[in-house]
Parts: sequence; C-alpha cells; structure tokens
Amino acid sequence: METKICVAVGRRAAAELEADAEPRALAARPGFLVELRLDLLSGLDGPALDRLLARFPGKSIVTCRRPDEGGGREDLSDDERLGFLTRAVRHGAKNGPAAVDCELRSRDRLPELRRALDSRPPADRPLLVLSFHDFQGVPANLETVRRNAEALGADVVKLAVTPATACAARPLLEMLSSPAAPGRRRPLIALAMGEAGLWTRLLAPRFGAPWTYARLAGNAGDAGDAYDADDAATGTAPGQPTYRELETLYRFFEQRPEWPVYGVLGNPVGHSLSPLLHNTALRETGLPGVYVPFLLEDDPVSFVRDFGDGLGLRGLSVTIPHKERVREACAELSAAVRECGAANTLTRREDGSWAAENTDATAAVDALEEKLGGAGALRGRTILLLGAGGAGKAAAFGIRERGGELLIRNRTRRRAEELAAKFGGEVVEYGALPAVPAGRGVAAVVNTTPLGMYPKTDASPLTAAQIPAGAVVFDTIYNPLQTKLLKLAAEKGCPTLDGTAMFVAQGARQFELWTGQAAPRSKSAAVVRNELEKRAKREEAR
Ligand code: NAP
Repeated sequence: METKICVAVGRRAAAELEADAEPRALAARPGFLVELRLDLLSGLDGPALDRLLARFPGKSIVTCRRPDEGGGREDLSDDERLGFLTRAVRHGAKNGPAAVDCELRSRDRLPELRRALDSRPPADRPLLVLSFHDFQGVPANLETVRRNAEALGADVVKLAVTPATACAARPLLEMLSSPAAPGRRRPLIALAMGEAGLWTRLLAPRFGAPWTYARLAGNAGDAGDAYDADDAATGTAPGQPTYRELETLYRFFEQRPEWPVYGVLGNPVGHSLSPLLHNTALRETGLPGVYVPFLLEDDPVSFVRDFGDGLGLRGLSVTIPHKERVREACAELSAAVRECGAANTLTRREDGSWAAENTDATAAVDALEEKLGGAGALRGRTILLLGAGGAGKAAAFGIRERGGELLIRNRTRRRAEELAAKFGGEVVEYGALPAVPAGRGVAAVVNTTPLGMYPKTDASPLTAAQIPAGAVVFDTIYNPLQTKLLKLAAEKGCPTLDGTAMFVAQGARQFELWTGQAAPRSKSAAVVRNELEKRAKREEAR
C-alpha cells in the first residue's frame, strides 16, 4: 500500500477554500488527499459542506475537531460536530469523502456515525478514522488507546502526541517499528507533533502509514526549503512539512520501508542545508535512502543508542551542540575525532555499533589548499586562525597535518593557548591592531567564529585594517554567502573563499563513508549555492 500525502486545509472561510485552485489541483493527482478541517473553516453550513465535498470527489478526509483536541469551534455542540461528519458520509456516492475522522473521545456519538457508514454500499463506504490527540505529552497508555480504537471498529487509527523532547518519542517509535505486534490489525498513523517529531511525518512510508499530513505549499514552500518553525502557523498542526518538501526533498512517493535512513542531529536544525545536500546526493546517485533532520534538545547518546534500530539509521551528521558528547555513543573514534575532541559524522557498522569521524578537518583544509594553489600548498605557509572552538580545532588539526604554521587568535585566550599547545603555533593578541605583528607573512586567514553569520550579518571578526594585505580570506560561514569579513577582504583586494566549499566537502566525505560511493560534489555545490542565493534574496525582500 502506497502512503499518501494528505494536505490539511483550514483557517479560512469555506467559500475561499472552495475557490482555491491549489488543493483542487492536488486532489486530482494520484497519491494525494485533502483533509477538510471543518472546525477551522468559517462560514460553514450543510450546503457549504456539500459544495466542498463536490470539489474533492472521493479525495477528502472530513473532520471537525473537538476543542479539547485542538478544534477551533467552541460554539459547536458534539451533536453539531458529528452531524457534519454524518452529513458527509451520506453525501452522494461519487462525491463522498475518502474517510471521516472522529475523535476516540467522542465514542458515545459513534453509533449514529456508524449507522450512516453502514448504510453505504461497501464499495462506496468512507473509511472510519478514530483519532487521539495529546498536545501536552505522550500518555503512558498509548498502546491501550490504539487497541481501544481498533476495538471500536476503526479502519485507521490515528495517534498524535507531543513528546517533551526528541527522546521522549521512543514509545511512538517502538509502536511504529513493530507493525507485526500481536493484536495489530488496523493501519496506524502515529505522529509526534512539533519540530522534534518531524521524522514521524517524513518517514511515514517506512512505517506503512496509509497517509501523512502536510501543509499546502502556497508561494512560500519550495523543494529546497527546510522546515521553518516561523511558517508552522500556516499548517493545521505543529510540525507539518509542506507537501512539496515531502515529494521532492524527501522523495516521499519513492521511499520504501527497507531504505536506509540518514539524518542530522542538532539544535537548531530547522535551517540546516544538510537535508538538501544529502538528499540531492542520494537522488543523483540513484541510491536508496532518505536524510532527515532530528531536532534534539536532550542527550545525543540516548538518541543514538535507542533510535538506531527502529529508524534503520545508517549514518548521522552531528552539529551544535552535540559534537563532543556524541563521542560517548561510539565504539570507534578516528584520529581526527580524538585530536579535535569532536565528531561531526557517525557511521553505523554491521554489528550495530557506531564509528565516529570528523570530516570538518579535511574539508576545511582541502578547500583552503585548493584556493592556495593545490595539493601541498599549505606546507610552510602561515595561516591566521580566528576562533578556537570545534571548527577552529578541526581547522588547526588539518592545517598542522598539511604542514602549515598557525597563528591563533581567540576571544578567550586560554582556549587559544590550549590549541597552540596541542597543534603547535603562536597565540596572537585578541583585539590588537594590526591582528598580526609586522613581518609575519600571512598566506591565509581562516574564520571559524560565528561572527557575521545569519542573522547577525553586520559583525566581522576583523576590521578592514586588521586583514593582512594579500592574504586569502576564508570564512567557514556559508549563511550568508558573502559575509562582512569577505566583503571587507574583497574591497582590500584579497582573494576570498566562502564556506560552501567546506560545507559541501564535509558532507561529501560523510556520504562516501556511509554509502561507499563518490558524492556528486559539483551538483551538490550548485544546489546548495542556489538555495543560499534564494534565501539571501528572500531576506533582502523582507
Ligand atoms: P564553537 O565551538 O561554539 O566555537 C565558536 C568560536 O567562536 C569560539 O572560539 C568562540 O570564542 C568564538 N566566538 C563565539 N562568539 C564570539 C563573539 N561574539 N566574539 C568573538 N568570538 C566569538 O562553534 P563551532 O562549532 O566551532 O562553529 C563556529 C562556526 O564555524 C559556525 O558558526 C559555522 O559558521 C562555522 N562552521 C562551518 C562549517 C562548514 O562546513 N562551512 C562547519 C563547521 C562550522 P570563545 O572561545 O571566546 O568562546
């Protein structure tokens, strides 16, 4: 059974929805359904419902939520709400809904709805969805809730809960990843609401769900757009992706339960370009697999240990703030991870254990070396490194490996000294002008601080006067592409390098570790650059 995409619509006048071309066009496509959230539509009465049903013949899922389950109409009695569903069921044969969705909590009103359903010829009978929503947490008796829904005759069981943290979604994953559990008879849609639960929606085909819920794309949604918490208000529940993201970015209709799953673990991850980078690489190489964001506020070690099997994880990118802690979940640490004290790549081995790598180090120096003239170009050259955090350590490790000399400048002097003690090099005064003492021929400046990164794009780690004349200036920041530091450097006639080459290279190496195949680097670079340029234009237009 193919998992469908159900586009949820609401929060507007019924007449406006009737006239909207986007949901109608979608309903005409195979694989799509439209959820009519009657409780969110203003100006709705019986005739308006009939007209709406006729707009989406055989493709609508009709629901009218109770206020205590997220419904928008306090003024409707239970009889009126269920009356709408019953009317939908009794609607003309060709125009009827594909399903009606009634809350399990309204079970006392079910007999009438069932009578209406039973009055339809079997070929023309909408499915009965029995649903349960918890906006506060995950009830301990979730399995009992599921069984109750089945016992009450649900054709589809829908459970939507709100785990306080990503790891708190574990009971949901256990339920989803054991479809052959004793007593399981009915198709299940189990969702974790909020950004941390996005994976439950993106990976619905893996779990054999009959459908998942998505937002309309309107003008805002685009294939490359990552989940945007700011846009979530346009959906009907927290955490809904757009249907276009599902279709194009996450290859929703191609996904198979046996596909390997990859992802990025971090906080925040909403604007991460890694899903675009890796899903592009998977599509271009024709490999099975999907890459999703995992927003993780809690312990990365628990997540890696507890979610690997159920999700079919094969590889993880790791970003702020988990790069150091995540090492504890790994059976093997590479030399770069041991030296840098941080991992950005986890690969699952045959025996289920994890190996940690740091691909930032080689990515940073590969990009820099190429700009400086190719292999061996770093040997004996002096590099001014700005910052001594995770990326700073990775760059220092890589520069030392390739024979470069380090000058290290960091806000917290102690951390610069620790780096110099570990990798060799000299500490230069922070805040001093010029940034490096006279006579030090600096071949390149590498910025690994977040100064200048979106949204604080007005900041720069160096003033124009502090940029050594003639040095290549490499900013590891890639959002925005043109940071203030790079603009100042270009004005001074210095060659510049933005952070995309490093970003693409660190991701390409991850891809190669996970799949054993070469990553399509130039295609990935073009897609990432294009997305960043689009975002920059959107920013300007705001
Ligand atoms: P991190 O571990 O938190 O280190 C941040 C560094 O920046 C520290 O040295 C810190 O100095 C310094 N810093 C932070 N805020 C500052 C401020 N307001 N003024 C002066 N110095 C400041 O972070 P990270 O993981 O190294 O990442 C840093 C940046 O690297 C990111 O923002 C990202 O843009 C870039 N990066 C790029 C890629 C890529 O693929 N292109 C990959 C990884 C990272 P203190 O020691 O004084 O706190």
